[in-house]
Amino acid sequence: MFAGIGEPGQRRLKASSAVILGCGAIGASVAQLLARAGVGRLRVIDRDLVEPSNLQRQALFDESDARAALPKAAAAESKLRQLNSEIEIDGIVSDVTPRNAAELLNGFDLLLDGTDNFETRFLLNDFAVQAGRPWIYAAAVGSYGLSFTIRPGMTACLACLLETGDAGPMLEETCDTVGVLGPVVSLVASLEAAEALKILSGQPEALHGRLLSCDVWSGRLQSIVVSRNPQCRACVGHEYSYLEGESQPHITMCGRDSVQIHERRRSLDLASLGKKLSATGLAVKTNDFLLKFAIPPYEITVFGDGRAIVKGSTDPLVARSLYARYIGA
Ligand SMILES: [Zn+2]
Repeated sequence: MFAGIGEPGQRRLKASSAVILGCGAIGASVAQLLARAGVGRLRVIDRDLVEPSNLQRQALFDESDARAALPKAAAAESKLRQLNSEIEIDGIVSDVTPRNAAELLNGFDLLLDGTDNFETRFLLNDFAVQAGRPWIYAAAVGSYGLSFTIRPGMTACLACLLETGDAGPMLEETCDTVGVLGPVVSLVASLEAAEALKILSGQPEALHGRLLSCDVWSGRLQSIVVSRNPQCRACVGHEYSYLEGESQPHITMCGRDSVQIHERRRSLDLASLGKKLSATGLAVKTNDFLLKFAIPPYEITVFGDGRAIVKGSTDPLVARSLYARYIGA
């Protein structure tokens, strides 16, 4: 009934597709809004698992997901299916890296930011600019959040906005140091989803073209016109340094007090690893996707593709040595 979309727009939504990178706070809320709106094909990609501390702001998950230590992408897939059985949904448990970006992101009409770090956002920007696909930047930290729709060649891109020497306060504060308030997540996800519906229902002329930011604590709202940078590395110079992997370290920090270890092209037999670890007296928790065990003060989660998240340290050397000792080099 909404005039801006109407029946033709609703049909276009059904025929459209979007991929959501990161299914934490903003990603989960956006996924939910788009599934309910009837976007025909949704993919959610996330590298992490549901933990009790997520539930304060991550709208798709509940206590049973956290108890089962389900990966967010898998939990999201099953929740989204319950919301709308008439659309295609796939959840992918993976980190997006220069190596797999094309494989995971190709073939979608729109890319949506649900990530929690700028490394992945710049990778997403490079991919989208090179592929000529629209994407929507969204971020929240503390009580502040923002969203900006990027259409390569038509609007500024993330590199135009942030690679200007003065990157601004968003790069210094992260959710890990100041937390993030639930209501700002919903607000930013709504701004992002509304822009997504304009693009996917075939109404790009309805896009507002502005960077909207809001602080739900102070009540400060801003709407800014962002200019393209005529010297932009990405959208003018076609130099895609993040996509080419130059800026991607092998070990990346993720979440609170954690190190992520990528073991490339390695596949692990989680069942036999679980048996081996249990035999040494460790309490091992497993599900279809991962294996989790604690060596106080550390907690180690291992995925089937060999990737691991070591919680309790920010030192890659400590994480590497725990990995080598318990999972194998
Ligand atoms: Zn640019």
